Amino acid sequence: MRPRPACEDEDPELFFPTGTTGMAVLQIKEAKAVCRRCPLLESCLQGALERDEVGVWGGTDEDDRRGMKRRRARKRAAA
Ligand code: SF4
Repeated sequence: MRPRPACEDEDPELFFPTGTTGMAVLQIKEAKAVCRRCPLLESCLQGALERDEVGVWGGTDEDDRRGMKRRRARKRAAA
């Protein structure tokens, strides 16, 4: 049986907060908590990085993924 995403029964809106301050901070935290118990976290994160997604994917928000991309680019440049 294929693993099921932890967000399957959640309101999709939870993963697409408006902004990154105020109530959105709590929303992002809650969405990330769902991701943390997801068996698909790694593949979900990779897909989000490749597609430049908005919202919470693979336990990360857009800022997290921007940071990851910057670090990867820096590593590549240093290699
Ligand atoms: S890691 Fe991806 S598939 Fe899993 S709960 Fe989070 S958004 Fe859904």
